[in-house]
Amino acid sequence: MANPKDYKIATLASHTALQILKGAKEEGFETIAICQKGKRKPYESYGVADKIIEIEKFEDYFEIEQQLIDEKAIVIPHGSFVSYLGFENVKKIKAMHYGNRNIIEWESDRSMERKWLLDAGLNMPKLFDKPEDIDRPVIIKFNGAGGGKGYFIANNPEEFHKRMEGHPDAERGYVIQEYIVGVPIYTHYFHSPVTGELEIMSFDKRYESNADSVGRIAAKDQVDVGIQTTYTITGNVPIVVRESLLPKIFEMGEGAVEASKKIVDGGLWGPFCLEAIVDPNLDFFVFEISARIVAGTNPFVHGSPYTWLRYDEPMSTGRRLARDIKEAIEEDKLPEVLG
Ligand code: AMP
Repeated sequence: MANPKDYKIATLASHTALQILKGAKEEGFETIAICQKGKRKPYESYGVADKIIEIEKFEDYFEIEQQLIDEKAIVIPHGSFVSYLGFENVKKIKAMHYGNRNIIEWESDRSMERKWLLDAGLNMPKLFDKPEDIDRPVIIKFNGAGGGKGYFIANNPEEFHKRMEGHPDAERGYVIQEYIVGVPIYTHYFHSPVTGELEIMSFDKRYESNADSVGRIAAKDQVDVGIQTTYTITGNVPIVVRESLLPKIFEMGEGAVEASKKIVDGGLWGPFCLEAIVDPNLDFFVFEISARIVAGTNPFVHGSPYTWLRYDEPMSTGRRLARDIKEAIEEDKLPEVLG
């Protein structure tokens, strides 16, 4: 029988690397952290890495890739892979790679992503083709705007044009999306090709600066000080949802997995996340999918209430991932989880 001990687990030391590496160790793998110079401290302090490979910057990943191949390391992609290497380069990874790399293009392009999610039967915020059609609150999202910088809300075409005049990002390209008044709920799923099952691992909401702080001062002060809302992520806050919402949330995840099989060979597997705003009618408006582990799983290094229901042992998403790999190796199905 193939032995998990013959393989190692490696990832870029950022984003969700702590729980990925810890989870891999819990499942019996040796681990490798690929660190940027000067940033190795957390990976040493928490003892999650058996080996640290240093590079100047994450973009230099390919310079050390042969080492990973020689060590039979399985690379776990996360948000930093996509943001530092870009989906085109992620496709060029030659080391063993967990997950379907062909799906990443579908989450990186807003219109492809929308097609996927609508095919999945998910409810999404309406899109407006032109400003003249604005008949309700909308959010204007500029392409490539880090942290949602420059996003603004408008209620009608006049407000849109007024805010757009002289806007520093006006030339960038943008979408006009219905603004949903509700609460954000981000669902962390795991779909295992080994068991064929979809699991709900946990939920979070993001802690965004300054969006999560403007409400702490009076409306008048917000106007007087001229605050522009931004959505720079600083952390994640765990959530437990109303139990009666769970059947619907399972259905949504299953829809996303089913639809993924129609767009990419093999479809989506492993961890993924649906990002939604839930309105007072308890309708979910999904505005994004992340087809990989998200940082919102980080509060659950020791498991979440949901993983505790299913596993009577601590089960982070990172560990779940490693278990999927371990079971695939033991059942001689490793190629099924690599992509
Ligand atoms: P994004 O850059 O698309 O991730 O959006 C940044 C933040 O804006 C999200 O974290 C949400 O809190 C919020 N947001 C995005 N789209 C909508 C929407 N259609 N309605 C309400 N809030 C939204």
